[in-house]
Amino acid sequence: MRSSWGSGSPGGWPSEPLQEVALTKRICVIGTGYAGLANAACLADLGNGVIGVDRDQAKIEQLNHGVLPIYEPGLAEIVRRNIQAGRLVFSTSYDEGMQDAELVFVCVGTPSGVEGETDLADVEQAAIEVAKRIHQPVVIVNRSTVPIGTGDWMSDIIRDHLQSPDTPFTMVSNPEFLREGSAVYDWMHPDRIVLGTTDPPAAEKVSQLYRSLGAELIITDPRTAEMIKYAANAFLASKISFINEIANICEALGADVRTVAHGMGTDQRISPHFLEAGIGWGGSCFPKDVKALAYIAAVHGQHPQMLRAVMEINTDQRKRAVTKVREILGGFRGKVIGVWGLTFKPNTDDLRDAPSISIIHMLQNEGAIVRAYDPVAMDKARNMLPRIVYCDSPYSAAEDADAVFLVTEWNEFKQLDMARVRDLMRRPILLDGRNVYDPQRMREMGFIYRGMGRGYSGESLR
Ligand code: NAD
Repeated sequence: MRSSWGSGSPGGWPSEPLQEVALTKRICVIGTGYAGLANAACLADLGNGVIGVDRDQAKIEQLNHGVLPIYEPGLAEIVRRNIQAGRLVFSTSYDEGMQDAELVFVCVGTPSGVEGETDLADVEQAAIEVAKRIHQPVVIVNRSTVPIGTGDWMSDIIRDHLQSPDTPFTMVSNPEFLREGSAVYDWMHPDRIVLGTTDPPAAEKVSQLYRSLGAELIITDPRTAEMIKYAANAFLASKISFINEIANICEALGADVRTVAHGMGTDQRISPHFLEAGIGWGGSCFPKDVKALAYIAAVHGQHPQMLRAVMEINTDQRKRAVTKVREILGGFRGKVIGVWGLTFKPNTDDLRDAPSISIIHMLQNEGAIVRAYDPVAMDKARNMLPRIVYCDSPYSAAEDADAVFLVTEWNEFKQLDMARVRDLMRRPILLDGRNVYDPQRMREMGFIYRGMGRGYSGESLR
């Protein structure tokens, strides 16, 4: 795959040699997935010369043609703009990526292993490939979410694979906090930049990249930096599980969790964020990161009971949603169930550990026929969920349905003609997994409405 510093991209964009544009730093970004692509594009947008290296050839070909392999609002425009400006190219070649690179950003995946541990195979491979090509001083910035101590482990791997043992390199842990769905905004407006290193000049070099963003800089040791990322994700997941537990208590006692959350969230010490009750969290980060932190804690002799409860509550929420409808229908065998939303949250096409997947599996295992609609992720879902009927609209998913589950709160679902939905359904049972609708209004319209923690009573199947 052709693409290197100074070459244009092969995708038909005007190719301006990288040397001829004003470059701030030359950066190689390893891994061009959800996090790496946002990093590569945003670093280029700040004026740096960036090569994104990924082992996935199809992905690199798409990117060099200005086509995004993922759905991320606003990112395509930045990628194209920087390809055109000659600041951003993509390659499958580490040789090209490492040539002249002053900084290497590691953004490869760190999925869960079988026991909940972090699978560091991709990080290890990236470290080895980088090490073999270090011929000048370089700062290696780790943005992947990795277990505490991984920075030291990567340093050892790199040292073992250097071609000339005296070439200086430094590791800096720089956890990534962006959210899918608002990755560009988050990258450009970080609440803080965390740098973990014992080398002040390396910290200075990395912090220069972010200076124009005006964020608070927190410089600490690598292990503390790595821990900040896990602790932050575990806390956010805990907040959601907490409000879900409160939701379940609300439900038993006839209180409304949305108002409870509002009443709590207006307290500045609590804040309203991540206090939305529903069918719980999913995605590529919270599930694996909470699990990994619990695993690390346990293998180091700790008893992570709160983290375990946070995960258990989350799993239970998905089951609870299914139970609510099973109780009304008396079982799912032969029942048609509409599912609105497949992605783990709106504004992304990411299906990793999405609640929809486990909910659909539960429904199918009990004999339901699932009709689903998602605004962006249906093509991606086909491999993962081959046995469902994919529909071209939320209305079509509701057709002849015995119940509809709202799983992902895409804006599109907030503005539906609900009278039409009701009329299309065989039975007007609505499981509002994200508490999007007004329960009273839905009941007045004739729906048998079930939210999450919204205090209902006295309903019967029409
Ligand atoms: P991803 O699976 O979307 O992307 C990883 C990319 O790395 C893939 O394109 C893969 O082909 C490539 N890759 C893997 N090993 C490689 C190697 N050795 N050489 C070259 N390319 C390689 O993953 P992601 O969601 O972007 O996450 C990456 C890391 O960032 C994870 O540690 C994740 O926890 C962290 N993170 C992600 C997000 C997010 O919103 N997705 C946010 C914060 C942090």
